[in-house]
Amino acid sequence: MPMDEFARWLEKGFAGDMDYLSRNRDLRARPADLLPGAQTVVMVTMPYLPRGTQAHWRQKEEDAVNTPSRAVVSVYARGRDYHKVMRRRIASLARRFASLYPEGRFRACVDSAPLMEVELAERAGLGWRGKNTLLLHPTTGSMFFLGALLTNLRFSGSAPVLAPAPSSIERHCGSCTACLDLCPTKAFIGPYQLDARRCISYLTIEHSGDIPESLRPLMGNRIYGCDDCQRVCPWNRFAQAATLPDFAVRHGLDQALLTELFAWSEAEFHARHQGSAILRIGYARWLRNLAVGLGNALASATRAADTVGASDIRAALIARRDYPDAMVARHVAWALAQEGVVA
Ligand code: SF4
Ligand code: SF4
Repeated sequence: MPMDEFARWLEKGFAGDMDYLSRNRDLRARPADLLPGAQTVVMVTMPYLPRGTQAHWRQKEEDAVNTPSRAVVSVYARGRDYHKVMRRRIASLARRFASLYPEGRFRACVDSAPLMEVELAERAGLGWRGKNTLLLHPTTGSMFFLGALLTNLRFSGSAPVLAPAPSSIERHCGSCTACLDLCPTKAFIGPYQLDARRCISYLTIEHSGDIPESLRPLMGNRIYGCDDCQRVCPWNRFAQAATLPDFAVRHGLDQALLTELFAWSEAEFHARHQGSAILRIGYARWLRNLAVGLGNALASATRAADTVGASDIRAALIARRDYPDAMVARHVAWALAQEGVVA
């Protein structure tokens, strides 16, 4: 989003407790402060659907969020941490430039510096910003990461995919509102405007405290991120699979059950998520998120008179009832109280 819109978005408090966004606000408008003498930002994308992803992947993802006992981890986080993978690739691009232009200085950025990535990528001709606030491309959808390479070299710019439209509503989203309508927590205030405080990606990853009780039932079984506003986007019929092996699913994270993941010890959490972005949230937030999913699964099992399913979930939660972290214990208590909750 343009800087003035971004400033208004921050002022309205939509960033929640992502204070770093306010702290770095002015830097975002001045990439030259991130690399002295910067003249050019080279924007790049890298697809992350695992290699071999089948054409009906969007249906499979929809089935997963509709199966309450399943633990749903956002697709991008099921493989290796993209920050490292992408940074390596951008550094390699920088070395190639450096071999051609020895006077060049470079800085690779993958979520590591305050940049308006979507805005820059749009200007670089890599797509347009959809109503779900993500960058969309007509032949690749939005299932890709964005990265940047700042340089003091002056390169000529590329043309935007779309000519500036009189109204952003008239851009390639047309009259579609699928993402806005589907969002489980109603996090979109309107097209192109997200209240991050209601977004499941923010709640499960960025937010460090208790998840507001009013939002917990709406989160379903999404325990790390959320793909709903991408899955439903018609442009993602064209999403492409990664060419790298790094984004292959690890530890069955595309089909795990909530109870299985909740049973992992802290040592298992660290060992299995080594090299994964998930490690960053830490074990307590991991358990917190799973407890919310289990509470919702317990409510569903009770409503469906699934006594075996409810009993397994109850047993998993009771085993963690006295967990020493108070936040986790509060979420477990909430989850156990969902038994018999009528939707
Ligand atoms: S990621 Fe999920 S919760 Fe967040 S805006 Fe998209 S659909 Fe809504
Ligand atoms: S779902 Fe529709 S409105 Fe949302 S980003 Fe995709 S095309 Fe645009």
